[in-house]
Amino acid sequence: MIIQPKIRGFICTTAHPEGCFKAVEEQVNYVKQKGQLLGPKNVLVIGASTGYGLASRITATFGAGAKTIGVFFEKGADEKRTASPGWYNSAAFETLAHRDGYYAKSLNGDAFSNDMKERVAELIRQDLGQVDLIIYSLASPRRTHPVTGEVFSSVLKPIGQSFTGKTVDAFRGEVKEVTIEPATEEEIANTVAVMGGEDWAMWIDYLADQGLLAKGVKTVAYSYIGPAITYAVYRDGTIGKAKEHLKMTADQLSQKLKSLNGEAVISVDKAVVTQASAAIPVVPLYISLLFKLMQEKGTHEGCIEQIYRLFKDHLYTNHPQSRDAEGYIRIDDLEMQADIQKKIEQLWPTVTSENLQQVTDVKGYCDDFYRLFGFNMPGIDYNADVNPEVKIESID
Ligand code: NAD
Repeated sequence: MIIQPKIRGFICTTAHPEGCFKAVEEQVNYVKQKGQLLGPKNVLVIGASTGYGLASRITATFGAGAKTIGVFFEKGADEKRTASPGWYNSAAFETLAHRDGYYAKSLNGDAFSNDMKERVAELIRQDLGQVDLIIYSLASPRRTHPVTGEVFSSVLKPIGQSFTGKTVDAFRGEVKEVTIEPATEEEIANTVAVMGGEDWAMWIDYLADQGLLAKGVKTVAYSYIGPAITYAVYRDGTIGKAKEHLKMTADQLSQKLKSLNGEAVISVDKAVVTQASAAIPVVPLYISLLFKLMQEKGTHEGCIEQIYRLFKDHLYTNHPQSRDAEGYIRIDDLEMQADIQKKIEQLWPTVTSENLQQVTDVKGYCDDFYRLFGFNMPGIDYNADVNPEVKIESID
C-alpha cells in the first residue's frame, strides 16, 4: 500500500508505519542520549500509545530501565485502512524495548472498562508482582461507565456565556473567528465524567484492593492550565472543570496512598500538538505562536523533553521546588515564562491570515501534526509500497 496523509478537519485518517517507527525511535534516542535516571521499576501507563503517555513509557523504559505495561485503545490495519498511529507507535516501542532486553507488554482495549482493569491486574500479578508508578494519560471523547453502562461524551465549550475569539485552520492557513455557545449543565457533567478523575480513582482503588501497589507507589495524571487567551475554552471551560476534578481526585488518592507512603500528583504539561489538542478551538493558533517564540528563545520542547524533566527534576528527586503551592508539578514552566506570554498577548490581536506565516510557526504546527501520523519524517519514501499490517509483539 502507498500511504499518504488524508486530512479530514483536525484528524488524519491514515498513518505510516515506518514514519511512526522513526518518530518513536527519535524519542528513544533522545532519552538514551540524555542518560540514565533514578526512577521506577515496574510501571503501568494508561494511555501509552501517543502523546504524553507514550513519552512516559519511553522515559520509564530507556531512562530508568523499568518494565512497562501499556494500555491503549488503537486500531490495527485491515484491507482498506492503515492502523492508527498509536498502534504503529506501540509496535515500534515494543520492538525497540525488546531489542534492548526490556520487558514491555501492551493491552489494547477500553481502559474505562472493568474488564481492562481485571486484565491488567492479572498481568501485573503474573509478571511484575506490583507496580510502583502508574501514569494516567487518557484523552478520550467518550466514556462508557463501567457500572451504569451510561455513555458520556465530552465537549470543549465555555461555561456561562458564549465565547467568540480567534482560531486558525492551520492546513488552509486561515485565521478565523469562532463562536462557541456555552455548555449545558449536562454537558459539563458529562465532560467531567470522561476527563475528570473518577476512572483514575477506580484504577488506583482496584489495584490497591488487589495488593498490586508497591510501597512508595506514585501515580501521575496530566493536566493543562495555559494563559488567559485560552481560559474561556480551556481552564474556565468544560475541560477545565474536568481537570479541577482530576486535581481533587489526586488529593483524595494521595490521602489513601499514605499508608503505602505513596502519592498521587498532577503534572501540568506544556501545550503540544497531539490528536487531543488539535481538537480544541483557539489552541492551535496559540500553539503556533508559542512554538515560534519558544524556538527563538531556545526553550521549545515536545512531549519527550518534558517527560524526561518530569522524572528527573520532579518525580524522583527531593528538590523542594518540585511542587507549586497547590501541589502541582509544573513542567509548563518554560511555556508560562512572563516574557513569552507577554509577547503572545501583544502578537495575538495582530495575527491575520495574511501574516500568519511570518508571525507564527504555523508551518511547525502542521509539521508536528503530520509527524503524529508518521508523515514528514526525513528519510522515508512516502511513494514506496509499504505493508500496513504491523504486529505489536506482545499482542496476538
Ligand atoms: P493523546 O490523544 O496523544 O493520547 C491519548 C491516549 O489515550 C492514547 O494512548 C489513546 O490510545 C488512549 N485512549 C483514549 N481512549 C482510551 C480508552 N477508552 N481506553 C484506553 N486508552 C484510551 O493525548 P495527549 O495529548 O497525550 O493527552 C494525554 C493527557 O495529557 C491528557 O490528560 C491531556 O489533557 C494532557 N495534556 C495534554 C496537553 C497537550 O497539549 N496535548 C497539554 C497538557 C496536558
